[in-house]
Amino acid sequence: METYTCPICGYDGIEDETPYEEITNAPSYEICPCCRFQYGYSEDHDVDLGYIVTPDEMKEAVFQLYRKQWIEKGAVVGHPESYPKAFQENGKVKQEIIIKQLKRLNLPLDNLTFLEEFKL
Ligand SMILES: [Zn+2]
Repeated sequence: METYTCPICGYDGIEDETPYEEITNAPSYEICPCCRFQYGYSEDHDVDLGYIVTPDEMKEAVFQLYRKQWIEKGAVVGHPESYPKAFQENGKVKQEIIIKQLKRLNLPLDNLTFLEEFKL
């Protein structure tokens, strides 16, 4: 079965549908079992950039803000029963797994303030 990568947390076990359609950019409205971002909903409801409907060109800023908030709050696993047990500890994503997932998104890890306490 094909799996997809969450553009927010980098978890690569998203099943059934791609979070955002490649050509139309249409969201799946699925919820990531790792970071709990709901593609197509969280952009407008779980972060506040001051838009009622977030413009497409601001999506990366939304992802970054959500990612920061999620990690600062302890990277709590969204749906522990749908996320690999080996990746979690006390309901949170293990540090080394977060790093691994973020690397998958090619994020500049040494330029992220919210990773300062991580062993990079
Ligand atoms: Zn995610």
